[in-house]
Amino acid sequence: MFRFILLSLLIGFGHISYACDFENISFDKNFPGGRFTSCEQLAPSKFLLNLTPENTPINDSPWYAFKVNSIKQQTIEIVLKVVDGNHRYPPKKSLDGKAWLLEEYNVAGDHLSFSLSVGKTPVWVSAQEILSGKDYYNWGAELALKPNVVHDVIGWSVQNRPLYKVEYQGVGNEWLVVLGRLHPPEVTGALALLPFAEAVLADTPLAIKFRKRFNILVLPNLNPDGVFMGNWRHNANGFDLNRDWKTFSQNEVATVHKYLQQIVKQGENIAMGVDFHSTHKDIFYTMPKDYDVKNPMLVTKWLDALDQQYPDFSVIQQPGNNPDKGVSKQYFSDVYKAPAITYEMGDKTERGFIKELANSAANQLMKTMLASPKL
Ligand SMILES: [Zn+2]
Repeated sequence: MFRFILLSLLIGFGHISYACDFENISFDKNFPGGRFTSCEQLAPSKFLLNLTPENTPINDSPWYAFKVNSIKQQTIEIVLKVVDGNHRYPPKKSLDGKAWLLEEYNVAGDHLSFSLSVGKTPVWVSAQEILSGKDYYNWGAELALKPNVVHDVIGWSVQNRPLYKVEYQGVGNEWLVVLGRLHPPEVTGALALLPFAEAVLADTPLAIKFRKRFNILVLPNLNPDGVFMGNWRHNANGFDLNRDWKTFSQNEVATVHKYLQQIVKQGENIAMGVDFHSTHKDIFYTMPKDYDVKNPMLVTKWLDALDQQYPDFSVIQQPGNNPDKGVSKQYFSDVYKAPAITYEMGDKTERGFIKELANSAANQLMKTMLASPKL
């Protein structure tokens, strides 16, 4: 009897497959950012993909990305099931992995379902736009064509992926530091970081003036392993990298800490830190207004000015002081007495607006920093 049950389990009722090649259709996750855990064929044209995180506990940010190949043109139904969790991201579809369109979908508990027209040309489905290590590399390499902009490796991730910087160093001794992608699925934050960094490195009169006084360090992809594996939140060791800025136990965070310490040892100053993330709404996490930093009113002045620029959009400033949490804004404030924020874009914020706001935020920050007393 026992052997019969064991055999049944092995053969499988409700066949679970990890390869996910069915008779005339396949689900492929073998590309950077690709992720689902296993799949099942529920009916001739209905498929279920299970989503599980890298480790637990973890917050509910189920990431998925896969390519569907079909021998014939057909419409299939896909069900995404989160194991022990809730959905966060509505599915997007792409034919080239670059341009994405939102799919119509239904959510019932841990099941998210949608229909998809597939054929011989692969169709990509993803939780958010895919922004891979290669995309970051190409972006940094292009910026490095500008004078005095350096694109280089400052260290290595747990799995030995390079941690790239894009850096402008002029004659000043004050630094603006920009961090990104500590949390892999938070792509809308990444979509804000790119135009933000481009604006401070641009050839506009304001940015040129800014760079005569300030240096710029941009670390756009600080969790390259998590981004590659399609992790929900953590790095390859299963650590939350935005809880490690007190202990520096992970290569990725320790590398940045060491780099900034070198800057300070040379007698230079960290003037401002901006760390890009995403959550369910657009919000700017700040330190309390009376927190002991150099230029304590810098953040308030900056974000108030940005708010005034957008009568129909509210720039929400949410102060918080968590000395033991290990988040980057606290690290900048406590270790360098530098004002810092967590810049959070909503998961569903319109992509054109993310770009426009980031450009305005960068320009407004440059004006505010230029008006601040020298360190
Ligand atoms: Zn985050």
